[in-house]
Amino acid sequence: MAGTEAAWQLAQRGISVRLFEMRPVRPTPAHVTDRLAELVCSNSMGSTLPDRALGILKNEMQSLGSFVIRTAFKHALPAGQALAVGRDEFAEEITTRIASHPQIELLRQEVTAIPDGPTILATGPLTSDALTLAVQSLTGRYLYFYDAMAPIVTYESIDRSIAFRRNRWDKAGSEGTDDGDYLNCPLNQDEYEAFVDALLAAPKLELSGADKELERYFEGCMPVEALAQRGRDALAFGPMRPVGLRDPSTGQRPFAVVQLRQDNVAGTLYNLVGFQTNVKWGAQAEVLRMIPGLQNAEFVRLGQMHRNTFINSPTLLKPTLQFKDRDELFLAGQITGTEGYVGSALGGLLAGINMARLLEDEPLLTLPRATMSGALFHYITHASPDDFQPMKSNMGLLPPLQERVRNKRQRYAAYADRARLELEQCLEQMEFSPVA
Ligand SMILES: Cc1cc2nc3c(=O)[nH]c(=O)nc-3n(C[C@H](O)[C@H](O)[C@H](O)COP(=O)(O)OP(=O)(O)OC[C@H]3O[C@@H](n4cnc5c(N)ncnc54)[C@H](O)[C@@H]3O)c2cc1C
Repeated sequence: MAGTEAAWQLAQRGISVRLFEMRPVRPTPAHVTDRLAELVCSNSMGSTLPDRALGILKNEMQSLGSFVIRTAFKHALPAGQALAVGRDEFAEEITTRIASHPQIELLRQEVTAIPDGPTILATGPLTSDALTLAVQSLTGRYLYFYDAMAPIVTYESIDRSIAFRRNRWDKAGSEGTDDGDYLNCPLNQDEYEAFVDALLAAPKLELSGADKELERYFEGCMPVEALAQRGRDALAFGPMRPVGLRDPSTGQRPFAVVQLRQDNVAGTLYNLVGFQTNVKWGAQAEVLRMIPGLQNAEFVRLGQMHRNTFINSPTLLKPTLQFKDRDELFLAGQITGTEGYVGSALGGLLAGINMARLLEDEPLLTLPRATMSGALFHYITHASPDDFQPMKSNMGLLPPLQERVRNKRQRYAAYADRARLELEQCLEQMEFSPVA
């Protein structure tokens, strides 16, 4: 995500780029193709609403000329007010355009040491072991947490006499769908209790040694079994919450719901929303088939968990994404602690733009704190280094408004207006023009 965005930003400004990608020569534990910009788990890039954190962020990235976001919108799938992406088509287009760009040389090769000269390091949460060691010797240490992936099933194996198509609060579906974008598998209380029991009893892939001691998850990507351990109702208030949904066969709100979201353009695959898990595969399929509507589910991918590496950005990076001790080394993407696809691409966007400005002797961009992008970069470079953890864009990162606005919608709209205005002013002052 970050690497392709950065390469594009530089290449479109006439700067020659050598882009190293180790796949397929050396695979990662989560990627399954050799394409660039592969979405490793969910195919959602979050809200498109202009007054939600990810909506604001995507709008800002479009003003900055993001190649990744533009391409994602081109391959959008129906998903209510979220940007879901046809993962194959999206990655295919990014790969083809990067590989055929006259300013980019794409090398399928593992990098094992941090190169000299102008460099952007954007090797992500699954940075190879050799390079992780090199990062460690440069930065003193690296940090990590565990991230889990959600399963994907074939559409034809979902029992449509049970799973009903509907958006929460009966919101209209995206263009082309009249009855909603999500398939919902309803559970009554008995079914929910039995499911939680089975999930808690199922064998998990255990971590060992030092990994076990350091086992911790990113809150936003907590495996369902870890969530269930927090309390029997945790899932019913989390990924299985039924709010805003009525089962057409009973006319009632179900006790709990598992939502499925379209995963590819053809509509032949659906993923289980928020259902990342690390239960052992045989048991996992058995437990998931207890969900009404999924009793015959055919899994094309089961959930699994991976280590997710990042650096202590507050001690190491400037808000321009430059390494503090080496101006022509930038870091970008999840390795800096900006969590998620959009946050990762954002890092590549700023690093690419700033590297170009550095090479052209122009002042570097530091985005205003009142913008969502500026707030995120401010956070990763100013958070407390002792308990630093990756961060998703969210409204809480923005500085308070000068005047108190009680109504939440109005407050969010005011944040969004202020962000737009400040970005416009900043880009005008810096004489910034986005690339195509
Ligand atoms: C298991 C898992 C599930 C996730 N699920 C989600 C999700 O559902 N939604 C979400 O928004 N985010 C998710 N993330 C977080 C994050 O958004 C993605 O990992 C995102 O792809 C990160 O973007 P990036 O550009 O930083 O890294 P990547 O997209 O991973 O790109 C880094 C690239 O560098 C390559 N590379 C690594 N080491 C080397 C080397 N030494 N030499 C050459 N190439 C190398 C890799 O092969 C990879 O292609 C998940 C992360 C993990 C690990």
